[in-house]
Amino acid sequence: MPNSPKSKIVARIDSRADDLIGISRDIWNHPESGFREKRTATLVADFMRQIGLAPRENIAITGVIAKVNTGRPGPHIAIMGELDSLIVPEHRLADPETGAAHVCGHNIQIGNMLAASVGLSQPEILDMLSGSISFMAVPAEEFIEIEYREALRESGKIEFLAGKQEFIRLGELDDVDIAMLTHADPSERKTLRAGTSHNGMIAKSVRFIGRSAHAGGAPHLGINALNAANLAMHAIALQRETFQDDDHVRIHPIITRGGAAVSSVPANVTMEMFIRAASVEAMKDAEVKVDQALRAGAMAIGATVEISTSPGYMPSKLNPELNSVYDEAVRDLLGESGVGRMPHRTSSTDMGDVSLLIPTMQSYAGGASGRTHSNEFEITDWDLDVLEAGKALALTAFELLTQDAQRCRKIVNDFKAPFTIPDYLSTLRQFRRTDVFSG
Ligand SMILES: [Zn+2]
Ligand SMILES: [Zn+2]
Repeated sequence: MPNSPKSKIVARIDSRADDLIGISRDIWNHPESGFREKRTATLVADFMRQIGLAPRENIAITGVIAKVNTGRPGPHIAIMGELDSLIVPEHRLADPETGAAHVCGHNIQIGNMLAASVGLSQPEILDMLSGSISFMAVPAEEFIEIEYREALRESGKIEFLAGKQEFIRLGELDDVDIAMLTHADPSERKTLRAGTSHNGMIAKSVRFIGRSAHAGGAPHLGINALNAANLAMHAIALQRETFQDDDHVRIHPIITRGGAAVSSVPANVTMEMFIRAASVEAMKDAEVKVDQALRAGAMAIGATVEISTSPGYMPSKLNPELNSVYDEAVRDLLGESGVGRMPHRTSSTDMGDVSLLIPTMQSYAGGASGRTHSNEFEITDWDLDVLEAGKALALTAFELLTQDAQRCRKIVNDFKAPFTIPDYLSTLRQFRRTDVFSG
């Protein structure tokens, strides 16, 4: 394809290869967790200005958006990258103070989103397109540091605990027709595999309240909150036989405070847990059983349990037609061996929320090793994860918006959104509640 528009996109991205990989490595070396990504956001905005874009900053605290208009009416595509790291203090590059580390590889997402912006924002390319493209650096995909985010919520800085949910609440997706993002894939194969679906998730903070007493001298005067929590976890485990395979239910509690002093009967025990499943119905079914189990633990021991429920993420349903357009771009770049499909994932993402509103594509770039969310995670193929992944996003956007955006319009028209934005926001709000039960 010499001198074709697509080859111009590819060549322009290759000409900025050092800068694009440089910024991705810089972010890799300076991880910041969700709603704290100030340095990362500044890097993104500066780079955008350097290539002639006009970014808006501080959206949902740290988000950055630059919109490019073709001047012709048509659909609006969002190409996204996530700003935040995880916290895994054992990683070799973990921030010594915060423990933040890029063990989900979101740094390469920023690189490939910016690569796509470099490839697409050339006047002779935009001349062939209709509609507009927004390049979005989104905060806080990882659902962590819940206490910190609850404090942000209480001070009115956010309402929801994840970045894309906040973008939706703030209206940043109101006029967006299609969303795309490329995540790292912890596999060393040279593939860019479009995803299928993800589990959704509900988050709970739980507190068992008992009565302290001398643990050796007078345990009969106490009410052991740790025993109540223990029983509740066992009851949750005994519910597992009722979960159906196709629902991919995952429930994983941790105890965040197990007691104050070993010589005192634990009177204040706290837990956090995620309840994940492949559909909202299955999430709600599992949630009912978890709440029963928590109450059963409290009842058996005579403790009180306080259950705070927060909306997590919606299950994702990624768009098959959009995946096909993306596959074509990958085939052009890497040949048939580069194309693939990521099967259902039992992890969760706020891209799931987006996917219930507009046609959404999330692909996975190989070129990483070690388990994600672990101390061993490494990026091994920066060219694939930043440059090729960025080219694939740019070529997909080009194909969608060229020729009066015919292919894009068809995908948008055929899409039956499970939720309108107001319905989605009210559903999310309904998940939030606190229940108290005294056993
Ligand atoms: Zn992650
Ligand atoms: Zn991730």
